[in-house]
Amino acid sequence: MKRDSQRARVYRWQQAEIPGIWVCVPLEDCAQLITMVCRDIGFKTPVVMAKRGHLSMANTRNIWLSPKGQTFVIALHELAHSITQRVFGIFGDSIAGHGPEFVRMFLWLLEHYYDEPGAQALSLTPSLYGVKVSSYGVVDVIFDRLAYINIVMDKTIVHPMEEVLYGKE
Ligand SMILES: [Zn+2]
Repeated sequence: MKRDSQRARVYRWQQAEIPGIWVCVPLEDCAQLITMVCRDIGFKTPVVMAKRGHLSMANTRNIWLSPKGQTFVIALHELAHSITQRVFGIFGDSIAGHGPEFVRMFLWLLEHYYDEPGAQALSLTPSLYGVKVSSYGVVDVIFDRLAYINIVMDKTIVHPMEEVLYGKE
């Protein structure tokens, strides 16, 4: 995996620009959102679990949400990790955890599944924070690969992403 060089910038961007990022909801609501998205896009739904501490994490099969991370935005952030790790990890591409492909997938999820005024305009904002974003074409690549994975194969373990989320206490 490439060095995760824009992770801090991604955190700064989402903290400043995504409305309602730290609005907590019940864990079940996060799991329900993730299940709905995964059914729509044909991704095997990760198991969503609560965990202690400040870290929320994801791998291709599991999402762990810290108490502070039980929000719709963080659920979609972690789901974007699950999806990108799977579709790029499985084909051996080297991508950074919070790299341009991840950010585009996260934006796509926000645009389609985050029902909050302003979510549609979020694509305009990452560059203001020095965050690089892949073009929309990468989402087509991701969906093509998900279709391929569903048809041909069903295996991969990638090490969990770890991150420290710093929100309002
Ligand atoms: Zn992350």
